[in-house]
This record gives sequence, structure tokens and C-alpha cells, in this order.
Amino acid sequence: MQALQLNIDAPDGKPTLFADIALPIPIPKLFTYRVSNEFSDSIVVGARVIVQFGRKKVVTGIVENLHNTPPEVYVAKPILELLDTEPVVTAIQLTVMKWIASYYMCTLGEVINAALPSGLKISSESRIQLHPEHNYQGSDYPFDEKELIILHALEEKDSLTYKDAADLIELKSAYKFIKSLIQKDVILIYEEIREKYQPKKVKKIRLKTLFIEEEDAIEGLFEKLSKKPKQTDILLKYLQQIPIYQDKALNYNGVAKSNFTTAGCSVSSLQTLIKNEVFEEFTEVISRFGEFEEDSDKKIELTEHQSDATEKILKHFEQKDTCLLHGITGSGKTEVYINLIKEILDQGRQVLYLLPEIALTAQIVNRLKRVFGSRMGVYHSKFSNNERVEVWQGLLDGRFDFIVGVRSAIFLPFENLGLIVVDEEHETSYKQYDPAPRYHARDVALYLAQAHHAKTILGSATPSLESYYNATNGKYGLVTLDKRYAGAQLPTMEIANTRTERKRKTIKGNFTTVLVEAIRSTLEKKEQTIIFQNRRGYSNYLSCDDCGFIPECHRCSVSLTYHQYKNQLNCHYCGHKEAVPVACPACGSSNIRTIGYGTEKIEEDLKLLFPEARIQRMDLETTRSKYAYQNIIKAFEDEEIDILVGTQMVSKGFDFDKVSLVGVFDTDRMIHFPDFRSIERTFQLVTQVSGRAGRGDFPGKVIIQTEDPDQKIIKQILTQDYLSFYENEIADRDKYNYPPFARLIKITLRNRDKRLGQEAMSHMANILLEDLNESRVLGPQEPVINKIRDKYLMELFVKIEGKYSINAVKKIIHKAQLELIQEKRFKAIEVIFNVDPY
Ligand code: ADP
Ligand code: ZN
Ligand code: ZN
Repeated sequence: MQALQLNIDAPDGKPTLFADIALPIPIPKLFTYRVSNEFSDSIVVGARVIVQFGRKKVVTGIVENLHNTPPEVYVAKPILELLDTEPVVTAIQLTVMKWIASYYMCTLGEVINAALPSGLKISSESRIQLHPEHNYQGSDYPFDEKELIILHALEEKDSLTYKDAADLIELKSAYKFIKSLIQKDVILIYEEIREKYQPKKVKKIRLKTLFIEEEDAIEGLFEKLSKKPKQTDILLKYLQQIPIYQDKALNYNGVAKSNFTTAGCSVSSLQTLIKNEVFEEFTEVISRFGEFEEDSDKKIELTEHQSDATEKILKHFEQKDTCLLHGITGSGKTEVYINLIKEILDQGRQVLYLLPEIALTAQIVNRLKRVFGSRMGVYHSKFSNNERVEVWQGLLDGRFDFIVGVRSAIFLPFENLGLIVVDEEHETSYKQYDPAPRYHARDVALYLAQAHHAKTILGSATPSLESYYNATNGKYGLVTLDKRYAGAQLPTMEIANTRTERKRKTIKGNFTTVLVEAIRSTLEKKEQTIIFQNRRGYSNYLSCDDCGFIPECHRCSVSLTYHQYKNQLNCHYCGHKEAVPVACPACGSSNIRTIGYGTEKIEEDLKLLFPEARIQRMDLETTRSKYAYQNIIKAFEDEEIDILVGTQMVSKGFDFDKVSLVGVFDTDRMIHFPDFRSIERTFQLVTQVSGRAGRGDFPGKVIIQTEDPDQKIIKQILTQDYLSFYENEIADRDKYNYPPFARLIKITLRNRDKRLGQEAMSHMANILLEDLNESRVLGPQEPVINKIRDKYLMELFVKIEGKYSINAVKKIIHKAQLELIQEKRFKAIEVIFNVDPY
């Protein structure tokens, strides 16, 4: 067999080339494919190829390795197509991806799948269509029978997937025929393989050179147009934007046609001017991120504290790779980063600036764009595929050397990173929860930096316990900024006791008089208020007063959230929606009541309390569309909103001068949330949202509503005493052996049969207990929410103390997984690992 393989493609005596391909599928090994002569000269490690996988699937993979050894146990299939002749994935990227797969206990394929924007992937699901410009019936090429079957089908249906095409011609793969049809130029691939993305173009106009070169030509033109007011209008508008009297060269750049139409100019007059050769039309390729002016002349001088901090960071970097910048909100951490970023870029190295999803607002992007201009690429999950591919390619071809992005930006093809900034490093949204890879972008960033010999700054006003612990034990450098910029004061913190107000019956709905009065006086002063409630929806749930029935999602074991605005019940886990029952489905009573409350309810209460105020809600519901979030921020910035009510979205990175009051709801529920990190989360969230107050010249005030002002954590929040909070909390973590003193790996089993899942889990626990001490296996248990999308969940935690090798434990876990699925009845059970769960 081997000899046969060696001879297939070696007429010139060269040994056959084989490629190990990483495929975006959850199978933990690489597959070897044969490289035909057609590709053998141009194939490189890191290029994408199209290969057949299994009997039906066609997928994009990455060349991981090239060699001359055929696989031992199977005949290597040929690579169907080579998509790149330059690596799209760099060598360092592959190393980092492999590390992620190993550390987070998933497959390289899953990492690649998460890493590549889908515009760079093509699979059985990729679609083909007829070429809109080249009708095959008029083509000179002959078509064979199978090709015609595909073409006819495309005439009937607008498009086909690769798989559809293969099924039609009753073959495993239609790739050969699709390729041939593409070569004959009669079909197109939807996700264009070669033209991976469409550059964004803008139509512009400029004056014909005649009018620029000849003296008085413009005057003559005005004369000629004197009876044509609409055309004169357009000419005037043009000259307003392009003052050629000052500088003739300005004409070259022209003005976007859309500028005239949006300004209300006549479209037909504009066309006439083009037809009469006054203006010429041209197309310009523009960046998708819009043009920003660089205003390098507006130099920001670092304050003494800031330059002090900068120097300390640099000093730490002489010894250490990582430095934690603990700077209170509004202390100007961003300016410190900007300064260091400039320095690294000047050295010719790349910089990555990570921000949590919700903090990546137009505000911060614009602020950075103004400094770094077009060398800066933005990578955001709300961006389209094309935009993401553009950043990926822009980094490869050197157009960008500075990337600002969300967690997935750690997958980008950097070649020469000098610095990574992880802003708001404590943020939970750095951790990917589902699907695999369940990575933490901060922790991957540290590995990424190491792979590039780069430095990392972790920044936060409320560092994670883990990072602060590493900073105090000397692993990271620690630098503190404890003054707000320009002498702005931290807000004063006050308590509003909901329990006593309830007793005295002074509470209005969920609003204490203390808070109501504070809002009133803020409105009177024409300043702004932010209200924070970390739960969306109207009420938590509905409940029948008579029998206690609570409507639940039929697919997940959670109560449905009531949304008054749509008069609907929603499942926040699977998205299921249903109408609100008129009567209790259990007992028929009509006494159905709302329990608990979310942002929507608070918004409604506020409207009743302050009918004259302009109130806006900001949560997942009101920010679904691409620009909704930015629009709300803009309106708030322009002071078109008096009170902004929101979930944790309002707590991040906002910098508004006029906010002088922050109200915090439901603190107790955050504190008592059943998770070992709940105290840490509460401290972080309340501190962050408080930091939005008093950033300008107004002193700020924060009012925290709580049932029990005597709780230790409330006191620490009130005094903004991070150190005292840290010392308390770290002592508890030590005592109960939680991170950072131990590591956790969560194992979840998921399947449709509840009993079988329970059996499988206890079977797995028993296997684990053979190799692990009882104190290291926590559970198994049913999670609080034990069913999602019709699948039951069982979980257990493996706890690994500091001195114990995590790799050894992972081996034990993998072994247990294998043993489990070797039992026939457990074969279909999904096993999910979450390393360092959040
Ligand atoms: P942080 O990120 O630490 O919360 P920011 O970096 O947002 O703080 O800074 C708070 C405000 O102070 C911003 O409006 C910022 O522009 C301003 N600021 C900070 N440092 C300076 C400086 N050196 N010169 C001018 N403005 C500054
Ligand atoms: Zn009932
Ligand atoms: Zn559900």
C-alpha cells in the first residue's frame, strides 16, 4: 500500500509530499493528506487547504506540517484545493493555538474554528450560485453530465451548498465539478474563496482638471450656471468642502457623492454636472472603520502621577514580563497605555489592546483612533465577517500594527508583538463560556506575550483576586494610580436601607426615598443619573398567588423572565418565548403576580416617578442591533438623556462629565449569588459603576440600596477599600482552597436522558476517584440550572492544589473520559471540560 502511495505522484522521482492538516472539527488528532504535484511547489505551513473529511464533508483546514511519510493505517486522500501560497496562520499562532487546545482541554480544530473568521473558512455549508454575468448557456466550454445537473439545479434554486451539490450528483464530494465550473467562470462561491472579502468602496466626485488649472475658470463656470440654481448650489457645496482657492491640490481627494444627496442636493443636477464634464466621478477604496484624523499636534501631557506610573512600569519590565496597573476609575490609565503603546510601535513592534466586549465602545475607539489613525485595526464581534477578514489580512500585510479588540483578537496573526494591554483585566467576558475553546483571553494573552517575548500590562480599578495575588507575591510588577485626573474627586458613597424604608412604608415600588430625592435634585441641577440593575427584563418571573405556580421554560429548568414591553415570557438561556398566561395553567386563578424586578420594571417605575425626565434603558434587549449601543451612548453624551438605566453594560469604561449620581439596585442578590466569586464580582461591579460618577467638575454621589448595611463587603465598598476587601477575600479563598490557591476544572455531562446522565456522571466520578483523592473531586451534582435546550446537565469539579501538577490531573481526566465513552450506553454523552471556570 505504501509503495503504491509513493508512486502516485512521483513521475519525476521526487518523493510524494504529505501534509498534516488541522481541521476545524472536534477530533483530537491531525489528518494526513497527500499533496499532488499541482500544489507541491507552492504549499506552505500555515496555508489553508480544502480537503474532504469523512464521506460527505468538505472543509477548510490549516497545513500544520509537511513531510514525506505516508500515514500508516489509512490511504491519504488528496488535498482538493490549496487556497493560499502564503501562510494565513503564522508559526507563532499555531504554537499558541496548540497551547490553548492543550491547556483548555479541547481540540486544535476547535481552536482553529474559533480563531478563523468564517470568511476564511469554506465547508460543506459554503454555497455556490450561478455567475450573474456569465450565462453558462452562452459559454464556449463543454459541460459534462454532472456539471449540467448542478447548473440546472442552480437555475431552479438560487444557491446550493457543497453538500447539496454532492447529494445531487450522488457523489461524496462535488468539489471536482465545482472547481471545474468555477474555472469555466459560470458559477461563484458565496463566501468567495479567492476574493475573500469585498473592500468597501465609495463613489466620489472632483472638478475636472480644466477648472483647476485655468485661471478664472471657476468664475466662468459660475457665470454659465447662473440660471441653474440647483447646479450652482452643488458647486458651492463642493467648494465649501474643498477650498481650492486656498490649495488646488485639495481637489484630488474629491467629495463623496453621498455628501450631496444627504445634504438635499438634486441628484439629477449632480448627474448633469458630471455629464457636462464639470465634475468627474471616481471610486475610492476606503477602510471600513471610517476615516479619522490624526491629531498628533494635540499632545497630551502626562500628569506627574501618570509619568511616574509609566516609569515604574518600564522599570518592572526590566525584570518581569507582566505588570499590573491598579488605577482607580478616572485616574487616566488609558493615557498611560497610550504612551507605552507609542513607544513600542516606534520600536517597530506590534501592539494588541484587549478590551472586554461591552467596553469596546465608539468612545474608546475614537479616542485611540485620534492618536493612532489608520495603523490601528479594530476587531469586534459585532463587526461583519468582511470587516474581520480585513483586520486579519491587514495585520498580515502590515497595514495595521496596532489592534484594539475583544477577546477573540488574541487569535489574530501577529508576527512581532511587543506589548499586550489587557484593560479591565478582571472582566468576566474575557472568558469564553461556550463553545470550546473555553479560554480566558487574559490568560492566553500572557502566553501569547511569552511566545513573542512581549510584555503585558494588566489594568484595572478592581483587579481580579488572581492577578492581585500574583502582583503581591512578586510574579507581576505592581503599579498603583490612586488619584483621579485633574483632581476630580471619587464620588461619595451612601447607603439606602431598603429594609427600614419598607418597614416605614416610605419605599415607592423598589425606590427608597433617599434615592428618589437624590434623583430629583440631580434632575433639578440638570445633571445626569445612571441606575444600575444587574438583571434585565421586567420582573424576574411570574408566580401564581394562589397555588405558587411559576411558569418555566419547557426546554430548560429555569423560570421564564417576564418582559412587559412585549407582554411576553422569555427564557434567557435558550431564547424560547411564549405569551403570558391569562390564568394560572395549574389552578386557573387569575392572581398572577410579578416577583423581583429587572431593568424594564425600573424604567417603568422611573417614568411614573419622574414623568418629565428623559429616560433610556440599556441592556441586551435595547442594544441588539449593530449601532444601537453607540446611539444610546451618543444620546447620553449629547445630554439628550437624563437617566440611563442599565445592566452591567452601563458600568464599563464610560466617561461622561455630567453624571453626578449613580444608583445601585439589588446589591444583596449579587452578594448572595451562589458562586465562590460572588463577593469579588459585587465589589468589582459596584466599584466600576460608581466610577461613572463625578468624572467632570461635578462632585459625584453613589447610592447603594441594600437590605443589610452591616455586611462587611458593603462597608468595604462604601470606603472603596480594595486592600481590605482583597485581604478578607484572599484569606477566605485560602481557607476554603479556592483559586488562586487551587485550580478548578469543571466537567459537565450533557444528554437528553436524565437518568443515563446521572449514571454516567457517577461512573466518571468513580473512575476519577481511582486516581484522585476524594478532596479533589467535588460532586457530582446537578447544577442549579440542570436542563438547557432539552438536555440535562450533570457536573463535577476537580480541584487541584497549587503544588499538584495540573497536567497530570488532565491526563487522569482524559483517561476517565475515554473509559466512559468506551461503555456502549454512554457513547452518545457529551463531555465538556471547562478549565478555570468563571
Ligand atoms: P481610567 O481609564 O483610568 O478610568 P481615563 O483614562 O478614562 O481613566 O481618564 C479619565 C479622563 O481623564 C479622560 O477623560 C481622559 O481623557 C482624561 N485624562 C487623563 N489623563 C489625562 C492627561 N494627562 N491629560 C489630559 N486629559 C487626561
Ligand atoms: Zn395557580
Ligand atoms: Zn429555555
